[in-house]
Amino acid sequence: MKYYSTKDAARAYSLEEAVLLGLPKDNGLFMPERIPLVDPAFLSALENMSLVEIASHVAGKWFGDDVPESVIHSMVADAYPFDTPVVSLDDRTHVLELFHGPTLAFKDVGARFMARLMSWFVRGSNRKLTILVATSGDTGSAVASGFFNVENIDVVILYPSGKVSESQEKQLTTWGNNISALEVNGTFDDCQRMVKEAFLDPQLSTTLSLSSANSINIARLVPQSFYYFRAAAQLQKLEKPLSFVVPSGNFGNLTAGIFAKRMGLPIGSFIAATNANDVIPDYLLHGAFHPRTSVSTISNAMDVGNPSNFWRMAALYDDSVAAMRNDISGVRVSEEETRKAMLDCHQRFGYVIDPHGAVGYHAWRATMNQHPDEAGVILETAHPSKFSNVVEETLHLVPEMPQRLAEIGGRRWILYFTGFR
Ligand SMILES: *Cc1c(COP(=O)(O)O)cnc(C)c1O
Repeated sequence: MKYYSTKDAARAYSLEEAVLLGLPKDNGLFMPERIPLVDPAFLSALENMSLVEIASHVAGKWFGDDVPESVIHSMVADAYPFDTPVVSLDDRTHVLELFHGPTLAFKDVGARFMARLMSWFVRGSNRKLTILVATSGDTGSAVASGFFNVENIDVVILYPSGKVSESQEKQLTTWGNNISALEVNGTFDDCQRMVKEAFLDPQLSTTLSLSSANSINIARLVPQSFYYFRAAAQLQKLEKPLSFVVPSGNFGNLTAGIFAKRMGLPIGSFIAATNANDVIPDYLLHGAFHPRTSVSTISNAMDVGNPSNFWRMAALYDDSVAAMRNDISGVRVSEEETRKAMLDCHQRFGYVIDPHGAVGYHAWRATMNQHPDEAGVILETAHPSKFSNVVEETLHLVPEMPQRLAEIGGRRWILYFTGFR
């Protein structure tokens, strides 16, 4: 399979180039030349398949020309010692828990696969990759966890001093070995600028083989389609079309859902739920894309004013807002609605939802009547204990740390989470 830039359909890239470069030099985004279809037999057997079995089939369809199937299978088996379970709140409201990975957020799913794929591409060579990543918190820890002790790859994380929480800082700085964290006296934007400058520096880029682990790497995006299939597997018995409710920031998660649908998974509709940073709901309403400076909210991992995956979505719908509206509806959720949703979800169902998932919960409860035949699947993108301050303020309870994850990837869980109360 070949990949091309959204800004230049003429030049084709191999999977290895697309993954190791991360971004094409022309400032576009990598897209596949086509979206592979899954086998009909796979869809009919879905109900009994584990996340690893599903990931093996789906990744095989995408990457099978470039990587041997047995290698793909070991990669996914190694990347996913956890599941993405569905918790059914009632007949029509379901939560897809994506936080069972080591850093308690869905970004583990993409980062862990990408790490193994990159490592395979540089295996046995003298090539050593240095991955630079600027983080405002969650991405850095998922990338560090994904690449920890991966051969031939070093990771350097830049994070803004005093702007990440204590627990996030522990998750960034306590790895050692091939992971280094640099505390930058500046903002997240400064960190991002420094990463860009390093890429443009002729001396650095000749002495080090620099790569990016940015969330828009195609190798992080494709794995995020796995759990749409895994959710459908768990809900097949409902015999209802599913509506996926995606709390969104940079729109990688939602783009992966569109991939899953185009691969053949019967998905009813998508609900793009955002906080006040509603550039895409606004686009769906008015048909014009106007990126703007982001504003801070309690669902801070979604505070994105210029969602880069918009250009992939536009490409997938041939630049037609009408076509995009057929599949996706946008809902903007205020801070007050987010907190009310956390309360309502807890009072009504006894379920503690984090502020990001709560944006999705509100969007579904507010619009479920417009989808009378569908069952809603809300993507719960982080464990509530990652945002314990907001949860405590709102629900007056301290979210429990998941004990069953005490040890993953050979590292003791407790080391990273001593910051939690
Ligand atoms: C990154 C993140 C999001 C946003 O996901 P996108 O793919 O950027 O839309 C939502 N919730 C949490 C907890 C995140 O870390």
